[in-house]
Amino acid sequence: MKKILYTILASISLTACAHAPAGGDTDNVMIAETETGAVRVVWMGTAGLYVTDGETGLYIDPFVSRYGLLKVGLGFGLNPEHDLIDKWIKITGGAGASAVLVGHSHYDHAMDAPYFAARTGAVIAGSESTANVARGAGLPEEKIRVIADGKQMAIGKFTAAFIKSVHSPALFGRIPWQGEITEPLRPPVSASAYREGGTYAIVLAHPKGTLLHYGSAGIKLGSLDNVSADVVFLSLGGRKDTPSLLTHVVTPVHAARVIPIHFDDFFAPLDARFSHLIGVNMEEFQRSMAESPEIGVSFPPIGRETILFQ
Ligand SMILES: [Zn+2]
Repeated sequence: MKKILYTILASISLTACAHAPAGGDTDNVMIAETETGAVRVVWMGTAGLYVTDGETGLYIDPFVSRYGLLKVGLGFGLNPEHDLIDKWIKITGGAGASAVLVGHSHYDHAMDAPYFAARTGAVIAGSESTANVARGAGLPEEKIRVIADGKQMAIGKFTAAFIKSVHSPALFGRIPWQGEITEPLRPPVSASAYREGGTYAIVLAHPKGTLLHYGSAGIKLGSLDNVSADVVFLSLGGRKDTPSLLTHVVTPVHAARVIPIHFDDFFAPLDARFSHLIGVNMEEFQRSMAESPEIGVSFPPIGRETILFQ
């Protein structure tokens, strides 16, 4: 098992939050200097991450154009917020990113992704539906990679593998906005135009350690049987319950640590004072994790780099 470090910055950052979750057994490790080659991560809210080893950087599901529930629910046309995307490229230090990986093509995962790719020169990788989001944003074909179940992609010292998964039953027990995006999708379009397009878990392996990005909390039995990961970035929004995620996602990959993501209210602006997504039931998560003390939990700070693998 690789040594996993995660800083106390998580709990510091969240103390300012009106609905701050307790920090679980967050490691009290403060890293002053970044060691060469350490794998670092910045959480961007929702399922968005920037991951780098100092040589190669990549985004997973970067999304920062957080429109209000009314606009989304009433079907207003949504435009990616270019200024916010530029701001977040600066915050994450991702100007030279090599890849943008997308787990499924709902708007809160895929809408901004091509613009992160366009601004950084990265390639974008995801389903055919995600490719159509990229085409609608004007990305050329040579910057688009259409992935398939089990397909691997080398990105510097990282290897990304896309594993077919299933979306969480996030809307009254049902998967929202199912189906495919079959033509280039040009904004502004409503959130509902961003069809799911199939959901993938992403395994990101590096010589220093392996993370599993579980961007939607559905369960596909057996899908992770041949996967091992040190850390799971686990989406909490829309999950059925935490024990089934532990049984079918975290335990099969033998992960020592869970880092919750996608529990913030993404209908509100992205800053340190975020609220929890309605219905996310953090109490149930905390209770379930307390019953599995062998699995560590770290809450990520928003917009601040922490070391994942030393
Ligand atoms: Zn989704």
